[in-house]
Amino acid sequence: MAAKGWVKIDETLCKGCELCVAYCPAGVLTLNTERLTPHGYHPAALGKEGCTGCNVCAVVCPEAAITVYREAKARPRAAAVS
Ligand code: SF4
Ligand code: SF4
Repeated sequence: MAAKGWVKIDETLCKGCELCVAYCPAGVLTLNTERLTPHGYHPAALGKEGCTGCNVCAVVCPEAAITVYREAKARPRAAAVS
């Protein structure tokens, strides 16, 4: 099963350049055309489910506007010692 992730976009930094949209391997990012940032750009946003937390968007964003979160994998239980 693919890892589950999500992103937080800092709209005070996002310039709506769409690099993250173009490079997201899962194709889940889009520009939110219903919102404007304080600087007057349409901000990037998660448009659908399927983010894997791969971090590509955060790496390509020239404004460092994206923080990626990834669901932690459950740790295997330690074997019982008898
Ligand atoms: S973390 Fe990866 S899958 Fe999730 S939005 Fe960013 S580039 Fe797309
Ligand atoms: S790459 Fe960064 S600045 Fe460009 S649209 Fe995405 S979040 Fe905004």
